[in-house]
Amino acid sequence: MHLARFPRLKLFPGPTPLEKLENLTRHLGGPEIWIKRDDCTGVATGGNKVRKLEFLAGAALAEGADHLITQGAVQSNHVRQTAAVAAKLGMRCTALLEHRVETNDRDYLQSGNVLLDRLMDVAIEYRPGGTDMNAAMLARAEELRAEGHKPYAIPGGGSNKVGALGYVACAQELMEQADQMGLRIDRVVHATGSAGTQAGLVAGMVGMNAGVPVLGIGVRAPRPTQEANVHRLAEEVAAYCGIKGGIPREAVVANCDYVGPGYGQPTPGMIEAVRMLAKLEGVLLDPVYSGKGMAGLIDLIRKGEIGKEERVVFLHTGGAVGLFGYAGVFE
Ligand SMILES: *Cc1c(COP(=O)(O)O)cnc(C)c1O
Repeated sequence: MHLARFPRLKLFPGPTPLEKLENLTRHLGGPEIWIKRDDCTGVATGGNKVRKLEFLAGAALAEGADHLITQGAVQSNHVRQTAAVAAKLGMRCTALLEHRVETNDRDYLQSGNVLLDRLMDVAIEYRPGGTDMNAAMLARAEELRAEGHKPYAIPGGGSNKVGALGYVACAQELMEQADQMGLRIDRVVHATGSAGTQAGLVAGMVGMNAGVPVLGIGVRAPRPTQEANVHRLAEEVAAYCGIKGGIPREAVVANCDYVGPGYGQPTPGMIEAVRMLAKLEGVLLDPVYSGKGMAGLIDLIRKGEIGKEERVVFLHTGGAVGLFGYAGVFE
């Protein structure tokens, strides 16, 4: 694979830091836990969508778009990061926000990510929970085109084969960083939602023959659906960037035991994980994704399913701005 063949807009100075979590490691009595700081990707407080947007915005520019359109939940980190990239490029941004979490909470509806969306002048349109959001977005994009705009449509979470290239690049970056540091990595753990992050990471690891397993902690779908979504996209991105031989089905593993009552619904494990990382490490997780991802990692360590002798890298995918949309949960 040779990623320079694809249009790309460099959005942050890489690589993101790879740091040891000394206090968390000591607190849990091992394994050795490291963190890959993809919450530090710059653009409007950063997060994992910035890596995907390097390739998506690159493609949008290459085809002469003047408008980015995308979709997500009200507290979508992806929409906020897309809005920031559009602002930086002088493009318009339209976002369809789904009322996926049923609530009247003022913070959820007005603060956190959606506050920042408004500051960045996104044209926000709301849709009821349960809407087929990608279909609604494509329909809206057609209307914009008919009105004379040149919209570039980005699916939820930026998760298609173009966006997933960002995490093929991250896999390369992480392994190069680890090799330079002389750091053996036994496993990568992260929160998985719209599947692009895990699909890109897995494809990258398989393409490099790294032999490093990736464990996704699900935040929405049940395991069979999540693994099928990740595997399908991993196959697509692998074919797209020239990784031969396909992606073995068993390279895709998601643990969806930490979703709790549903997407964006708080769990005791998430609250504990957010507090623990803040207090022990000064690292801010988020309530919807990285908090549940870390809750999964902590629980699997406590149950002995992740061994004390391992060295684990937790990929921090960002999202801390979402904490302000969930202030009541931490009171
Ligand atoms: C979108 C997101 C994820 C999940 O990444 P996917 O590529 O959608 O699976 C994880 N963490 C945060 C903070 C996110 O915003």
